[in-house]
Amino acid sequence: MAGSLQSASRLDGELKLDCDVVVVGSGAGGAVIATTLAEAGYDVVVLEEGPHVPYTGELRPTESVRHTWRDGAVTLAIGLGDSPSINVTAGRCLGGSSTLTGGVCFRIPEHVLDGWVHAGLSELTPEKMAPWFDQVEQDVHVEEVPVDMRSRGTQLFGEGYAKLGAELKPMRRNTRGCNGCGRCNFGCAHKAKLSVDIAYLPRAVAAGARLYTGCLVGKVEFAGTRATGVSGRILDFDSQRPARAFSVRAKRVVLAAGAMFNPLILWKSGLDFPVLGRHLSLHPSFRVIGRFDTPVRGWEGAMQSAYGDRYERDEGMLFNSVFVPNGVLAATMPGFGNNHAKLCEQIDHLGIFGGMLHDDATGRVRRGFGREPIMTYRSSPRDRGRIPVLLRRMADIWFAAGAKEIFLPVFGAPAQTPDSMKHFPLEQVHGRKLECSSQHPLGTCQMGVDPQRSVVDDHGRVWGTQGLYVGCGSVMPSSLGVNPQLAIMTMALRTATLMAAEGK
Ligand SMILES: Cc1cc2nc3c(=O)[nH]c(=O)nc-3n(C[C@H](O)[C@H](O)[C@H](O)COP(=O)(O)OP(=O)(O)OC[C@H]3O[C@@H](n4cnc5c(N)ncnc54)[C@H](O)[C@@H]3O)c2cc1C
Ligand code: SF4
Repeated sequence: MAGSLQSASRLDGELKLDCDVVVVGSGAGGAVIATTLAEAGYDVVVLEEGPHVPYTGELRPTESVRHTWRDGAVTLAIGLGDSPSINVTAGRCLGGSSTLTGGVCFRIPEHVLDGWVHAGLSELTPEKMAPWFDQVEQDVHVEEVPVDMRSRGTQLFGEGYAKLGAELKPMRRNTRGCNGCGRCNFGCAHKAKLSVDIAYLPRAVAAGARLYTGCLVGKVEFAGTRATGVSGRILDFDSQRPARAFSVRAKRVVLAAGAMFNPLILWKSGLDFPVLGRHLSLHPSFRVIGRFDTPVRGWEGAMQSAYGDRYERDEGMLFNSVFVPNGVLAATMPGFGNNHAKLCEQIDHLGIFGGMLHDDATGRVRRGFGREPIMTYRSSPRDRGRIPVLLRRMADIWFAAGAKEIFLPVFGAPAQTPDSMKHFPLEQVHGRKLECSSQHPLGTCQMGVDPQRSVVDDHGRVWGTQGLYVGCGSVMPSSLGVNPQLAIMTMALRTATLMAAEGK
């Protein structure tokens, strides 16, 4: 029997449900788990806090941010000491952050998996993970971005990178029929990006799953140590404030609310672990902009089409092609009034590239006063020392490509020429002056083999409980160093398949 997709905020009366499995969160992890279990014959309920926003192309980027990005994209991980504060973005809608991606798909690098195996997770070898990756890649249609879809900005960065002795590699993305319109982060109106709301959730509904949006889960209910369901509040449609209570009784509960929120739900449910909320990795990211004498028109072509991994294996630095919509870019350009206007006139001469750190997972999610977490981030000395190295390398690449000036992600810093860059005291810039962002919160409910040093076992089961699982980015046993959606979906598929094998 087909399931349903409903906004709980629009329903009258009580919401009390019974099911085999309740999944909290409909993002990259939750959607895969719900689909796998529904297709295996389980009666599945999915509870999503955010709304269902079908992307039709009518929403302007700013509207899309308001309706589908958490906190209108202003969430911050507070930098401690000399660490940068990091703007952490995530989705809050049906499909979660998956709907906002640039579509970039990486498998977990072998050296990362080797580290996990070395830490005792012996089932996560590259050989054993490969079939799970194959399955997800088939489900979401991972394909290589053709070289002719690269923007001029990406081509130029590639030319500079080549002059310094390396080649950009084509990105792989979960797309089918992409026309390179470049609005991926604000929802793909062409349904060409196969995010989980397109590739998985309709399958879950077809297999009988019931999806409810507008349901803010507060806690897991228990009988002794066995999870028996969840409870929370339905959000009022207009104000999005918690209103009526709801409850779902289930034989098994899966938390897939993401790395920022799973720890809060676990704490509120009366559980705690020495590492719960710790080891938050963010992949701190920085963008460096090159200004050229000739037009670049960086918005033409696929937003993310190529990457450079020359320094990934040994130094944990990855270069990713990106472009920011002109309106957003203008808002981040330095200066005021005429100075600012003059810079903005040159937007069509700018190329942008991103640099990302494979960090040491030194962030932390803490309980806040209300329902939002407080996130803090103290860079390890190694991570902090690599920031200026990363930025100087990106500056060198832009200059090698012929950029006349570059803009560093340093608040208040003027444009740099090749000469001025030599003397710019990047190594002395305080962390709070660095403009840093993250789209990849991971690892606050880590998978491991020791309950003192992890939150879930290698099946995703929460230590010391029965019937309670975690299945999203929060289980990552370490930072990945690459964009994580494919890794999250793959780990979720593995957890769901193991759950199904346990029987009803
Ligand atoms: C702008 C942007 C671009 C990105 N681009 C890429 C990319 O190109 N490639 C890539 O690999 N990765 C990318 N990512 C990262 C990727 O999208 C995420 O890592 C991934 O989707 C996280 O999956 P998840 O299941 O852990 O959480 P999410 O996908 O964030 O899903 C969690 C869901 O849980 C819901 N939720 C939270 N709390 C509750 C609660 N209490 N009750 C009910 N529901 C709740 C949330 O609303 C959300 O929908 C990007 C992310 C962003 C924000
Ligand atoms: S570039 Fe356009 S068509 Fe392609 S995935 Fe992104 S939004 Fe969709």
